[in-house]
Amino acid sequence: MTVKTEVKTYLNFVNGAWVPALNRQVDPSINPANKQEIVGYVQKSGREDLDQAAAAAKRAQQEWRRMSAPARGEYLYKVANILEKRLDEIAETMTREMGKTFAEAKGETARGVAILRYYAGEGMRKVGDVIPSTDSEGFMFTTRAPLGVVGVITPWNFPVAIPIWKMAPALVYGNAVVFKPAQETAVTAAKVIECFAEAGLPPGVVNLVTGPGSVIGQGIIEHPDISGITFTGSDEVGKRVGLGALVRGAKYQLEMGGKNPVIVADDADLDLAVEATISGGLRSTGQKCTATSRVIVQNGIYDAFKEKLLARVSALQIGDGMRETTWMGPCASESQLNTVLSYVEKGIVEGATLVYGGRRLVENGMDQGFFVEPAIFENVTTGMSIAQEEIFGPVLALIRVDTLEQAIELANDVKFGLSASIFTQNIGNILSFINEIEAGLVRINAESAGVELQAPFGGMKQSSSHSREQGQAAIEFFTSIKTVFVKP
Ligand code: NAD
Repeated sequence: MTVKTEVKTYLNFVNGAWVPALNRQVDPSINPANKQEIVGYVQKSGREDLDQAAAAAKRAQQEWRRMSAPARGEYLYKVANILEKRLDEIAETMTREMGKTFAEAKGETARGVAILRYYAGEGMRKVGDVIPSTDSEGFMFTTRAPLGVVGVITPWNFPVAIPIWKMAPALVYGNAVVFKPAQETAVTAAKVIECFAEAGLPPGVVNLVTGPGSVIGQGIIEHPDISGITFTGSDEVGKRVGLGALVRGAKYQLEMGGKNPVIVADDADLDLAVEATISGGLRSTGQKCTATSRVIVQNGIYDAFKEKLLARVSALQIGDGMRETTWMGPCASESQLNTVLSYVEKGIVEGATLVYGGRRLVENGMDQGFFVEPAIFENVTTGMSIAQEEIFGPVLALIRVDTLEQAIELANDVKFGLSASIFTQNIGNILSFINEIEAGLVRINAESAGVELQAPFGGMKQSSSHSREQGQAAIEFFTSIKTVFVKP
């Protein structure tokens, strides 16, 4: 691949310097709304680049962990201020690189700023407890130690917020970071790291190495200098990360897929349930791990719900995320588009009824991008692929039930357990749902996506492993407890 001079090339950030991959290879990053547009070139690094980054991180962490936590937090405040100043520019890059609307990209970048400030403050909070000792002269307490070097492996769907919600706690608790973003959004990632670089963190504390998952991601899994791996992505790759880390004794944290249900009870507020289903299911073109994909609706409200849902969905504006009128952008890549189209096909073949959309959009130049209409199926039964597998696209499966018990049973009948919502006015329904639903994020009269940053985030079953992300829960992964007993 030859580098075009008019399009900027983004480098790796290793030991405090911007450097090209040693093999001098790059990948183009393209705009999914217009595949002719190259957003930038990013490094297609090899293992040697990762080795250098891991070695730099290992050296730098020795000093970084000795710095006080409030002082480490001060760096995060600086990063937050720089990111905030560049919010529009970085959000625009995100829209051009992965397609979500500019408004959503700005919201996500603002969230990144808020997460940085939250963890900057975390540097001032307590990290341990005093525990009574049976020895009257003894004094016992817990404190926390960082893991060392943390490998951060992230997907393309939240290219600012997810890396920051991993890197900020890693850093404030005294770890150094080697960050490998999804190659599809590596320009956005490089701009995020520019903010860390400008804030003046000591060289080697944060490193960026872009490249293929099979090379750099796999390298992180196997690297002896990396003692913790925090991963968000598909369950297929997540299992590799978990297994590889387990084999060499590294700590790991996995956030993976979802097949998130929304239950609409007979007594639901119809307008609220419809709006939340659309927003939770189709925002970001359905490419959220917490996106609604199964809509389980009680008989008494089913017809009214379906009618309103179809009317609202058919009015959504689809187009380039930079256009102000656009409500839903393209799929993030050609392979995502093909996945969506193949599930639409599977849904039909397996006997579900396609009641809306599911067509690739090609009119008015849209064939240059990866645009698809939202697809809505009904007569979906629980064994079908569209009822079981994560599609990661704008596809909703409507499932009709008689009772709330049936609804909860069907909601739980998948391998995932990330997020789940119910719409109802009945406190009995609400309590049954809270008690019975198998999900880490339980949402009452609220869409399935949208957990606040100060609350624990993660799922049950095959959606997540180990400790939660976000909020104070993050300390569990990024540190180890030391139990200290002191006797004078
Ligand atoms: P992906 O699993 O393909 O890639 C995720 C990351 O892993 C990327 O950086 C990729 O380069 C890297 N990778 C790929 N192969 C690897 C390997 N062999 N070893 C190590 N790393 C490797 O996922 P994606 O397509 O980028 O993102 C979509 C997926 O992410 C969906 O399944 C979605 O549910 C999930 N996701 C989950 C959450 C959550 O918090 N639960 C949040 C966002 C996205």
